[in-house]
Amino acid sequence: MIVIIGNGISGVTAARNIRKRSDEPITIISAESKYFFSRTALMYVYMGHMKFEHTQPYEPHFWTKNRIELLQDFVEHVDTSSNEVHLRNGVRLTYSQLIIASGSKPNKFGWPGQDADGVSGLYSKQDLEYIEERSPNMKTAVIVGGGLIGIELAEMLLSRNIEVHFLIREEYFFNGLFPTHTSEMLMKHFEKHHGLHMHYSTELEEIQTNNENKVTGVKTKTGKQIECQFVGLTVGVTPNIEFIKSSGIEINRGVLVNEFLETSAKGVYAIGDCAELKSPTPGRRPIEQVWYPGKFMGETVAKTITGEPTKYNPGHWFNSAKFFEIEYQTYGMVHNELQDGQDEFVYQHTEDEVLLHFVFEKESRKFVGVNNFGIRLRHPVFNDWLLKESTIEDVLTNLRSANFDPEFYKKYEQEVVERFNTKFGAKVQLEKTKWWKQLINS
Ligand SMILES: Cc1cc2nc3c(=O)[nH]c(=O)nc-3n(C[C@H](O)[C@H](O)[C@H](O)COP(=O)(O)OP(=O)(O)OC[C@H]3O[C@@H](n4cnc5c(N)ncnc54)[C@H](O)[C@@H]3O)c2cc1C
Repeated sequence: MIVIIGNGISGVTAARNIRKRSDEPITIISAESKYFFSRTALMYVYMGHMKFEHTQPYEPHFWTKNRIELLQDFVEHVDTSSNEVHLRNGVRLTYSQLIIASGSKPNKFGWPGQDADGVSGLYSKQDLEYIEERSPNMKTAVIVGGGLIGIELAEMLLSRNIEVHFLIREEYFFNGLFPTHTSEMLMKHFEKHHGLHMHYSTELEEIQTNNENKVTGVKTKTGKQIECQFVGLTVGVTPNIEFIKSSGIEINRGVLVNEFLETSAKGVYAIGDCAELKSPTPGRRPIEQVWYPGKFMGETVAKTITGEPTKYNPGHWFNSAKFFEIEYQTYGMVHNELQDGQDEFVYQHTEDEVLLHFVFEKESRKFVGVNNFGIRLRHPVFNDWLLKESTIEDVLTNLRSANFDPEFYKKYEQEVVERFNTKFGAKVQLEKTKWWKQLINS
């Protein structure tokens, strides 16, 4: 029997792909929920855009039809000498192959009061229920940590008219990921949101509580005192691998795996947020706690387990998110600072919140990546350009073919190209090709 610990995107993708290729019994164990749901949609449940059931991509009969057994329980220990997983309910399951896909957990850094009533991260279904339950009694909330999940939590709480204070250690928002020009545009956007109070260069000192251990406020290292009924901790996530420590499987920050996603124990694999690659692809991180790498790892491990040993190839980096109304996508690797031998072109609209940040190699002109805000660009087209190692001039010439909504956005493209030509003394002219023609030709 193949046992999978974790029913998130990586574990479920592995199970589905194994079933397409093999008849071996499959059991997925998850403590969080019986059925797989989309973690990225949790915020929309809170904001009333959908019900929790709508976050489940598969109907309950999907699992029986595909003979994938689902257990809702917690794995306390993995015994690699007897090939067993020990469940909290006392049951021991024997595996032929084991996939650890146990995801992440929100970071806590030992602040006084961090375990008080009214403190939560935003990761699990249980976190959402916890926040939901306390929301009617929240007038003011403090969110600690300026990343994507923090912004999602802020948007959620503001939708219920809760006043939100956001503590950010850095001088600029998300400056570890974005250059200053990008952070500044986002920071300006946040100012528009009534009820969102940004506190930059501000670190949490302690969470204050009353004699019932309920949150009453926070004190910052700069001496600010903010009264609140809820504290959201969104200072990043860590691989959720506490239960693996007793197994002898080699770990570092995550469960260590080779390029076939094999751990140090025979027949045991790790994928998704909890996996740490010993030798990641150049330019990529050993642990990538985002959706698509987990999905790709699930597809890869399914092949290896069913007799087609396959190395994990993450492809070109891409991701997408939303900062309130501003949509964000990234294709290729754009760092917050230029790397050696790189050059950049930044287009920012004077009034609209539209920003395009292109990075390319100075000598060869090879396109390296783009961050785009406030305008949606097509992933397949950019992926194709990255695969073909197109030049920045090729990319800009054909920018129209990457445009998701040509009618609406065409007003920016001409200006993008003109500004590029002025800055670099180039003679790029926009092609009028449609995106599908571009793909057919590629
Ligand atoms: C609010 C939020 C928004 C996000 N938005 C984005 C986004 O816009 N784009 C993006 O790319 N990524 C986003 N992410 C990250 C993305 O959701 C994760 O990278 C992805 O879901 C991880 O999938 P996974 O399968 O590795 O693990 P998980 O989805 O974490 O699943 C692991 C499961 O294993 C269970 N488990 C762990 N240990 C045990 C055990 N011992 N016994 C039993 N069960 C166990 C856990 O309870 C969990 O259910 C977001 C994450 C959050 C929290």
